[in-house]
Amino acid sequence: MPIKNDSGPSRARLIGNILFLVAGLFLLINLLSPLLFGPSIPKVPYSMFIHQVRDEEVARASVGQDQIRYQLKDEVGQPGQILSTTPIFDLELPRLLEEKGVEFAAIPRPKGNWFTNILGWVIPPIIFVAVWQFFIGRGMGGGPQGALSITKSKAKIYVEGEAAKVTFADVAGVEEAKAELVEVVDFLKSPQRFTQIGARIPRGVLLVGPPGTGKTLLAKAVAGEAGVTFFSIAGSEFVELFVGAGAARVRDLFEQAKKHAPCIVFIDELDAIGKSRATAGFYGGGDEREQTLNQLLTEMDGFDPNIGVIVLAATNRPETLDPALLRPGRFDRQVLVDRPDLSGRRAILDIYAQKVKLAEDVDLEALAARTPGFSGADLENLVNEAALLAARNNRQAVAQEDFGEAIERVVAGLEKKSRALSDKEKTVVAYHEVGHAMVGVLMPGSDRIEKISIIPRGMAALGYTLQLPTEDRFLLNEAELRGQIATMLGGRAAEEIVFDTVTTGASNDLQRATDLAERMVTTYGMSKVLGPLAYQQGQQPRFLENGAPNPRRMVSELTAEAIDKEVKDIVETAHHQALDILKYNRDLLDAIATQILKIEVIEGEELQGLLNQVKPVMDSEKIHVAV
Ligand code: ADP
Ligand code: MG
Ligand code: ZN
Repeated sequence: MPIKNDSGPSRARLIGNILFLVAGLFLLINLLSPLLFGPSIPKVPYSMFIHQVRDEEVARASVGQDQIRYQLKDEVGQPGQILSTTPIFDLELPRLLEEKGVEFAAIPRPKGNWFTNILGWVIPPIIFVAVWQFFIGRGMGGGPQGALSITKSKAKIYVEGEAAKVTFADVAGVEEAKAELVEVVDFLKSPQRFTQIGARIPRGVLLVGPPGTGKTLLAKAVAGEAGVTFFSIAGSEFVELFVGAGAARVRDLFEQAKKHAPCIVFIDELDAIGKSRATAGFYGGGDEREQTLNQLLTEMDGFDPNIGVIVLAATNRPETLDPALLRPGRFDRQVLVDRPDLSGRRAILDIYAQKVKLAEDVDLEALAARTPGFSGADLENLVNEAALLAARNNRQAVAQEDFGEAIERVVAGLEKKSRALSDKEKTVVAYHEVGHAMVGVLMPGSDRIEKISIIPRGMAALGYTLQLPTEDRFLLNEAELRGQIATMLGGRAAEEIVFDTVTTGASNDLQRATDLAERMVTTYGMSKVLGPLAYQQGQQPRFLENGAPNPRRMVSELTAEAIDKEVKDIVETAHHQALDILKYNRDLLDAIATQILKIEVIEGEELQGLLNQVKPVMDSEKIHVAV
C-alpha cells in the first residue's frame, strides 16, 4: 500500500486565506462603489431618450461610447432630472441634438478613480504571485496530493510489504548483475557493518542494458530483499511544463527519501534527464533538463550515504549520459544487465512456465535453444502468447505447438493476413526469400533455415526467412561472417536475376550486410590490407566522451579510403557469390518460388528436402556462370 505523503495543512490554509481575502476585497468594492462613484443615475431606454430629445425636453447631454448622460430642462423652481441611457450606434444623433438645441459634448472614456485603477493593477499580480508561491512551495515542502500538485514528485512509494513481493528469485538469467547487487542489499540491511570498518558505500548504481532485460525488476528486487522503502520515478516524468519544476521534484524526492532511510531511490530512464549537456537541447527545452540534471547532481553530492539511501538508476542508452553523472560519488558503479544466454533463458522460462498449465510434450530446454536474443520481457511475452493460442485452440494445456507459433509471432510480429500483397509483389517477395534461403543453406556459419513465408507479418517484413541458430554463437570466423553477408544479399541477388531489377524491399538487408562488413574491417581486424588494427573507438572512451558522434578513431584520409574500399570489396564479393549460387541453381530457385507462391509457407522436412538440392558452385564452373 502506498504511503500517504506527509500533508501540509498550513499550505492549504494559506491558499484558503488568500482566496478569502480576494473575495472580500471584491465584495467591499461593490458595496462601496455608490459612495465612491456617487449616487447612481436612473437609466432609461434609448427610445425614451430620443423621444425626449424630439420633444425638446433635454437641456444638455454628455455622449460617451457606452453611456449617454443627460439633463432634462429645468422645471419651475428645481433643476432638471439627470438620466442616463445606453446608446446604440447612431450617426444621426449629433444632427438631431443640434436641431433640437441640446447642449452636448462627448465624454472621454471613463478613467475610474485612483482607487479602482490601483486595484486593477495590483490585484492580478498578487493573485499570480500567490498561486506561484503555492506551487513552488508545494515542491519544497509536503502538501496534500491532488490535481494541483504539479511540482510534487510523482515518486511512487512502496513500503516493505509491497516491494517484498519481488525478490531475487523472480529475476533470472542475470546472475552477474544479481551478484553485484547483493552487496547493496547487505548494506541496506546492516549499514553499521560497513561503516564500522570505514568502507565507502556506493551512492549510485547504474543498471545498463537493453530494454526488457529486467532492470526495473532488479531494482524492485533489491528493495524487496533488503525490506526497505522503494521510491521510483521515471526520468520522463521529470520533463515538465515550466522551468524549475523538475528541479523541485528532484529536491522533493530526495527530501522524502532521507526521511524514510534506509531506502532506495530508483530513477528509471535516467537518459531522459541525464542526457549529455553537450548534445542536448539543440531544439530548445534544454534549460529545463539541465536544471533538473544539475539538481540531481547536487542532491547526489549532498547526502551522506551512510544514512542508508542508495540511488539506483536504469538506462538502455548509457552513451548519451552526461559524463558528470558517472563521476566518483555519483553513479560510479555500473552493472550490466544483458540479454540472457541459453541457461538464463531456460531459467526465465521456468519462472513463467510455472504460471501456466503445460502439456506433457513441452520441452523448455528446446524453447530456450530456439530463442537466442530474446530478453526476459520477450520470454514472458512468449509464454503468454502461447497460453493465448492454446486457449484459442480450445486446449486444456499449453502445447509445444503453441510455443512454436508464439515464437514466430514474437520474432516477426503478429500475422497480418488482412494485408494483401498484389500478385506481382508476392512473386518478388517469394523469389527474394527463396534467394536468402538458397544462399544461406550453402554458407558456413549460417543458421539452419526453418521456414520461408510470404505471409506478411508486422509492419517491417513483407515475407521472411526464419533462421534459428541452435546454439549461441560468440565466436565467428571470417568465412562465417562472409557467409552471413552473402546470405543477407541472397534476396536482392534473386530479384536481380529473375526480374533484372531491384526493389526497395532489400534495403534492410543491404544495411545489415554493409554494417557487418564494416565491423569485419574496423573492429575485428579481418582485412589483410588494413591489418589487425581496431579502427573503431572502443566502448569506454565513447562512453565518457561528451557525446562524440564519431565512433571511428582518427584516421588519415588514405586509411579512411582504404577502409571504404575494403568494405566495398567484402560486400561485392559476397554479392557475386550469391549471384553465382542462384544462377547456377536457377531451376531450383524457380521451383521453390513457384511452390511457395502456391502454399505461402514452406517449412520442416519439405523445406529441408528442397534446400538439400542446392548445388554448390565449383570454381571451374564459376568462370562461365558468373559472366
Ligand atoms: P527493463 O526495465 O530492463 O526494460 P523490466 O524490468 O521492466 O525491463 O522487465 C519487464 C518485465 O519483463 C518484467 O516485469 C518481468 O516480468 C519480465 N522480465 C524481464 N527480465 C526478466 C528476468 N531477467 N527475469 C524474469 N523476468 C524478467
Ligand atoms: Mg524498465
Ligand atoms: Zn531480405
